[in-house]
Amino acid sequence: MGVSASLFGLHDLLQREVGRTQYEAYESGKYNTGRKIVYSSDEGNILWTLCCWRRSNQNHTNTRKLMKLAKTVLGGTLFDLLMKSSFYGHFVAGEDRHKIVPTLERLRSFGVKPILDYSVEEDLSQEEAEKREVESSVSSAGDVKEDDAMPQYHVDKSFADRRYKVNSARTYFYLNEATCERNMETFIKCLEAVSGATFGTGITAIKLTALGRPQLLLQLSEVIMRTRKYMEDMVGGQGNVLTHHKTIKDLEKYYASLGDNKNVQDFLKNVTSDKEGILHLFPWSGIVDEDSQLSDTFRVPDPKTGQMRRLISQIPPKEEEMFRNMIRRLNTIVKTAAELDVRIMIDAEQTYFQPAISRITLEMMRKYNKEKAIVFNTYQCYLREAFREVNTDLEQAKRQDFYFGAKLVRGAYMEQERARAQALGYPDPVNPSYEATTEMYHKTLTECLRRIKILKDNGEDAKKIGIMVASHNEDTVRYAIEKMKEIGISPEDKVICFGQLLGMCDYITFPLGQAGYSAYKYIPYGPVQEVLPYLSRRAQENKGVLKKIQKEKRLLLAEIRRRLMRGQLFYKPKGNYVPI
Ligand SMILES: Cc1cc2nc3c(=O)[nH]c(=O)nc-3n(C[C@H](O)[C@H](O)[C@H](O)COP(=O)(O)OP(=O)(O)OC[C@H]3O[C@@H](n4cnc5c(N)ncnc54)[C@H](O)[C@@H]3O)c2cc1C
Repeated sequence: MGVSASLFGLHDLLQREVGRTQYEAYESGKYNTGRKIVYSSDEGNILWTLCCWRRSNQNHTNTRKLMKLAKTVLGGTLFDLLMKSSFYGHFVAGEDRHKIVPTLERLRSFGVKPILDYSVEEDLSQEEAEKREVESSVSSAGDVKEDDAMPQYHVDKSFADRRYKVNSARTYFYLNEATCERNMETFIKCLEAVSGATFGTGITAIKLTALGRPQLLLQLSEVIMRTRKYMEDMVGGQGNVLTHHKTIKDLEKYYASLGDNKNVQDFLKNVTSDKEGILHLFPWSGIVDEDSQLSDTFRVPDPKTGQMRRLISQIPPKEEEMFRNMIRRLNTIVKTAAELDVRIMIDAEQTYFQPAISRITLEMMRKYNKEKAIVFNTYQCYLREAFREVNTDLEQAKRQDFYFGAKLVRGAYMEQERARAQALGYPDPVNPSYEATTEMYHKTLTECLRRIKILKDNGEDAKKIGIMVASHNEDTVRYAIEKMKEIGISPEDKVICFGQLLGMCDYITFPLGQAGYSAYKYIPYGPVQEVLPYLSRRAQENKGVLKKIQKEKRLLLAEIRRRLMRGQLFYKPKGNYVPI
């Protein structure tokens, strides 16, 4: 009863907000089942998912072993068949770009668009994963820790297996440059699949850790955080350089005691600023466009001696080249997305990579989001700094005049982040409670909506800010809809969209799509055997997710009962959504 009440609360809201006409279409027979809850999977998938979805006392390795055993007993073909009609069939769209088409069409019939994610993951043991991660996280020159080194940006073997306590996110472990090259090609195929199957409305998800050596992301993240510290020491206050609103004149004053120093003059030549103050201390555009060396770029004059001081330890030429490769791969992917007119979403990962991922993504936005949002960043609202980060990036987009695209999530790595912070002795980056995370999410979303409204009121293109509310939380979806209404942003403005994972919370996604909101499913695809490592983690969700799953289970059971009573034993739901 409680389930239905809150569920129908969202439905009632959709009905009120989008008007009776569209909602009636959805409520009436046009919705095909004549019911409010629809699941896109067929019976086998639902039943098996219900059976498999439980809190397993076993760890991921054991689940994987169990799956391997099942494969040995059943043989490859039978095992694949079993998976396709069960867990795989519920959470994964198909094996390749052709096999996923029926799922995409079924979703389209309900007004739902895809975010494609090629979900192949290497089947590594914990030992292998740790070994690879440690090897690829340290420079061949050694793990140099400067005096003010930050422990979070240095690899630690006990947390080197990044899959630790992470169920829903896919993880890449660096092997060599050739694998990163292959990953790039895969992402490009994914873009082509999205472009072909969705007529430009779909999105491709990518992870930056698939495209290069983690060491470079770690070093770049540390340098970004050390720059902030340098700026704080220089001018006081907190946060990104841009938030300080200092001018070049302020910097000149700061170095005044050094007289006419050539180092300072050269350094200041590369500082980017506008009338509101300094945007960047370093030439980021050079880093993503040209061949500037990381070791040469991140140097600042010492305010006491005038000597140039490195904020990043010396990187050997071969590793500099690897960094260039990573940026080249990303440029190739984003350029292809722009040519195909498909959007690209860069996933957020662990906090020790995030400053680099976010910075590089923002530079890609500056470069490619000139006329529309092609590149989307991801912000994790479980982070204490989330609001400040989003606000600063929105500010940069405004000042440098590019389209800002963001996916807002709560965050998938909480337990790992907390355990690592505690073990390595740095402050926990995650909000102290679930409520604080929710408040952070809602506050950040409200700020985005507020800025969109200002754009609308000023007669500017409201699409300069595009936000995806990526959450399975009904209250958050309801909050977004209510705030849109309150602030004056309609679904037709197409600036806010919603996203849930395939196989989860269809009862939220489909009514949204049917009611004219921009609704997306995050869709994993890939060959059965190669998606299994990811699936075996999905099979044992953690306690928090499990609470939600209880509700999902009740709804799935209700759907199965309903179909049985109607004699719809081999039923494939199909909507008749007509784009508004
Ligand atoms: C389309 C889509 C794309 C996604 N992409 C990413 C991505 O790129 N990167 C990423 O990290 N995640 C991503 N996620 C996962 C997301 O971050 C969440 O883990 C997941 O969606 C659960 O959050 P929720 O809002 O759906 O549900 P809820 O159940 O409302 O929230 C659960 C979340 O709240 C937070 N939380 C729980 N307990 C506490 C606590 N005690 N203190 C503080 N915070 C707490 C955690 O983040 C937890 O995952 C994505 C999810 C979706 C649907």
